[in-house]
Amino acid sequence: MVTVNDTTLRDGEQTAGVAFSAEEKIAIARALSAAGVVELEIGIPIMGEEEREAIRAIAGLGLSSRLMVWGRMQDEDLRAAAECNVNMVNLSIPVSDLQIRHKLKRDREWVLQAIRRFVPAALDLGMEVSVGAEDASRADIDFLLKAAETAEYAGARRFRFADTLGVLDPFATYEVLRTLRVTVDMEVEMHAHNDLGLATANTLAAVRAGATHINTTVNGLGERAGNAPLEEAVMALRHLHGIESGIDSRRFPEISRLVALASGRPVPANKSIVGEGVFTHESGIHVDGLIKNRDNYQNFDPEEVGRDHRLVLGKHSGSSAVIRTYAEMGILLDELQAGTILARIRQYAGSVKHAPDVNDLKRFYLETAVRHPLRLEV
Ligand code: MN
Repeated sequence: MVTVNDTTLRDGEQTAGVAFSAEEKIAIARALSAAGVVELEIGIPIMGEEEREAIRAIAGLGLSSRLMVWGRMQDEDLRAAAECNVNMVNLSIPVSDLQIRHKLKRDREWVLQAIRRFVPAALDLGMEVSVGAEDASRADIDFLLKAAETAEYAGARRFRFADTLGVLDPFATYEVLRTLRVTVDMEVEMHAHNDLGLATANTLAAVRAGATHINTTVNGLGERAGNAPLEEAVMALRHLHGIESGIDSRRFPEISRLVALASGRPVPANKSIVGEGVFTHESGIHVDGLIKNRDNYQNFDPEEVGRDHRLVLGKHSGSSAVIRTYAEMGILLDELQAGTILARIRQYAGSVKHAPDVNDLKRFYLETAVRHPLRLEV
């Protein structure tokens, strides 16, 4: 069992150009909670009163999900977080020397002192604390462990390991998360970024190394190339590692659509799990294989993610697929007609770059029927 902390409403909204309205935030939080997502990171209170209103509105819904907000280790962030009626705050602080020196203009000791001071302060305000180690993947390992131990000693229940720039691969992720896991006795959360397309792989590696929590976003929304997609992490953990997250994956299509719409970031057709085209088949060999036995060309039933296979005609179809598709439309073709129509379908697919729909197919049939009037009399 792994606990998903979905940050669509925090890191997801940090995507350049993305801004959710309060209504959209509420709808997304409701949908994620209804699907069984255990924790939601729902915003950044210090951003302003409007943001805090939206966070409080979500907190007022009485969802079963645990709610978290994000802040820096600064007094004003902590005060703003405390006004939001949420269970937990992730207090973020850079741990790489690069960011400590060139962003904070401080030193390592200052970072440890901040952890020692802000964790108990948040606890005093009635919030549970996750210490978010920003740029952890580029930190000196000894200092990273020192920061985690300091967080644990200060009373944090969780240490969030942020691969802020997406620089790790699964092997390096496993190593560092394993070391972290055996060094401290607290929850460890993986926050992966997808700059090299490895966010899901790194998330899986972290879980294998003992991470108790994972940070995800719907459709992989998030800064730059985004975070580990919720739908990918859930399905990959279930099917590759036999690890459940308690999430109803049949709800992924509606959640994905909701977030795509609210974020103005359409989902690419070939996006795993939720992309329009990922259960669509055209190739004669694959279609034939699927019809003989679905397992020939599926590794999980699309129904599990609220989808179904779709067969379309196109450049790579065979004439048997043409005959079968037309038969479903109530039109019986012989081999010769099927061959003529297939040539027309190929020409169409090559020029318009998508599969013909039912109306296109009817038109092709009429065109070829006109061209072969004698055949109709036979
Ligand atoms: Mn991030």
